[in-house]
Amino acid sequence: MTAIADNANTALEHRRAAAKAHLWPHFTPLTAHDSPGVPTIVRGEGAYVYDDTGRRFFDGLSGLFVVQAGHGRAELADAAAKQARELGYFPLWSFDHPSAIDLAERIANEAPGDLNRVFFTSGGSEAVETAWKLIKQYFKLTGKPMKHKVISRTIAYHGTTHGALSINGIPAHRQNFEPLVPGTHKAANTNIYRSPIFGDDPKAFGEWVADEIERAILMEGADSVAAVFLEPVQNAGGCFPPPPGYFQRVREICDRHDVLLVSDEVICAWGRLGHAFGASRYGYQPDIITCAKGLTSGYAPLGATIISDRIAEPFLADGVTFPHGITFGGHPVACAIALANLDLFEREDLYGNVQRNEGAFRSTLEKLHDLPIVGDVRGDGYFYGVELVKDKATKESFTAEEANRILYGYLSPALLEHGLYCRADDRGDPVIQLAPPLICGQEHFDEIEGILREVLTTAYSKL
Ligand code: PLP
Repeated sequence: MTAIADNANTALEHRRAAAKAHLWPHFTPLTAHDSPGVPTIVRGEGAYVYDDTGRRFFDGLSGLFVVQAGHGRAELADAAAKQARELGYFPLWSFDHPSAIDLAERIANEAPGDLNRVFFTSGGSEAVETAWKLIKQYFKLTGKPMKHKVISRTIAYHGTTHGALSINGIPAHRQNFEPLVPGTHKAANTNIYRSPIFGDDPKAFGEWVADEIERAILMEGADSVAAVFLEPVQNAGGCFPPPPGYFQRVREICDRHDVLLVSDEVICAWGRLGHAFGASRYGYQPDIITCAKGLTSGYAPLGATIISDRIAEPFLADGVTFPHGITFGGHPVACAIALANLDLFEREDLYGNVQRNEGAFRSTLEKLHDLPIVGDVRGDGYFYGVELVKDKATKESFTAEEANRILYGYLSPALLEHGLYCRADDRGDPVIQLAPPLICGQEHFDEIEGILREVLTTAYSKL
């Protein structure tokens, strides 16, 4: 080994030791830094990322449903540098700046209906927090101060800060942090694969599962319920698209009870479903949209709560303020990147790319149905879940021991070893989640399918 290689190795080893000693990873046990450790990703290009040993991975999750435009986009880095040179930071508290104004205007133009006001945050949880707080104040301003509760869905993920976590429907995320913010209640999600009655009748399922939201509102008392928070396609639990007519019926229910409909599009906005917003794809009109992630393709953190004129109206009265703000919300560099990112989407027709190719993505993944371990393939756009089962005919899932040993013990590391970064999600039934960058096409779908086929075949043999 040469001296240079020797030094390089020493530097890598030092960094690994430093990670183990000092870096607290998110949603990951501290022991994950023990041998063999977690990969250190050092660079990205297009749909691929590379670790510090030079291994290449296909980014099957766009980082974390974020990197719509793909990695290594020089124009986004240039936009950041230009803005940082001009104005590196100034708050949106009593001041504004051009990149936040221009981005707010652009978002309002792209958002459906009268969603014309944009409150910037630094991420998705804060966008959800902002929506709930704003809704509580809206009802206080409009003479219905009792309305404060939120209905959301089982196993849905809406973030980790206390308010967003309370809206979150994943018991394992909540339990350690009880007591949470009071006033949140859960209704059934749109998992038709596991519906005991309506499995073959999506329309009847859609009506029933929308009515579950109304039952929850009535159970809590419509006078106390302020909002329903729903993702267009629910991520946690494994990509549950809405059944036909679902959102239209939920909209009617919300109108009937003066409950606001919040479309939590932290994942689904900005092209993930082939449109700027999931609400536009599925043809419903929310009162508020929350978004983040893909807005900058991840080149800087940014979130947004987009509010309808009707909800903003009482805040226009003299002497009214929304006493809420976040230092980095609407950071000028993040907003400049978002503007460049949306230009890039247009220039490269990324929404069109998803619309043209989503059928091919679906049919490529559906080839996996011939494997005995694949129970369901579901999703829309570039957003899919592959549910794994022990028995295809009965849809029997895995025991906790099998899930730990095979899915998380074998599957997750094996996918990485084969060069595919994606996620084996364990927040509901076991599902492999896929959300490639929006620049992808057939050759990438084939690569995903090939790796999944090989690894899932071995996983099944280990049962
Ligand atoms: N809402 C939804 C639907 C999400 O998927 C997420 C994150 O994945 C959040 C909120 C929280 O966003 P963040 O992690 O940026 O706080």
